[in-house]
Amino acid sequence: MEYYSRQISKLIQELSALPGIGAKSAQRLAFHILNMPEDAVEGLASAIVDAKKNVRYCKECFTLTDEEFCPICRDGARNHKTIMVVENTRDLAAYEKTGKYEGVYHVLHGAISPMLGIGPNDIKLKELMQRLQQEVDEVIIATNSSLEGETTAMYISKLIKPTGIKVTRIASGVPVGGDLEYIDEVTLLRALEGRTEL
Ligand code: ZN
Repeated sequence: MEYYSRQISKLIQELSALPGIGAKSAQRLAFHILNMPEDAVEGLASAIVDAKKNVRYCKECFTLTDEEFCPICRDGARNHKTIMVVENTRDLAAYEKTGKYEGVYHVLHGAISPMLGIGPNDIKLKELMQRLQQEVDEVIIATNSSLEGETTAMYISKLIKPTGIKVTRIASGVPVGGDLEYIDEVTLLRALEGRTEL
C-alpha cells in the first residue's frame, strides 16, 4: 500500500473492507472513483450517507425502509391477513420480483443458529407473535432451506400452532443451503405454490 499516497491508500483500504471486494477490486474501484466527475462522486457519497442515516426498520414488517411504514405495508390492495416470513430484506425483494405474491411480509433479520449462538430473541420473532394478535389467516414460512432456516421454520411453527392460525412452509424446490435471493423467479413461485401445511 505504500506505493500510493495516504488518501489513495485510505480509499483502497475502506473499499476492500466491503464484502466481496478483494485488494485488486478495491484498487480498481478506487481509481475508477478518482476518475469520476466530482458531482458523480458526491452523488455516490451522499447516497451512502443518506441511506445510512434514514433507513430503518418498517414498524409493521421490519423490512428496511426510509419511511415509518414500508410501501408494502402501506398498500391497502395487498392481503394483510397473509404474512410471509423471510430471513432478510433481500429475500423479500426476491419474492417481490415474482410479482405474484399479494400478501405482506415479516422480516426476521436472521435465523436461529445454535452453532453461532443466535437464539430466538436475536431475531424479530417476538414482533411476529405480536402481529399475530391481529386477524391473520396464514403465515407462510419462507426461511432458507439451510439448517438454520429449517430450525427457524420448525421453531416458528411450534410457536404459532397453539394460536390456531394456519402455518405453511414453502416447498423444497429451493436447493438445500440455497440463498433465496439467488434462486430464479420460477423456482420461487413453484416453491410458494407448492407450500404445505405444517
Ligand atoms: Zn413493512
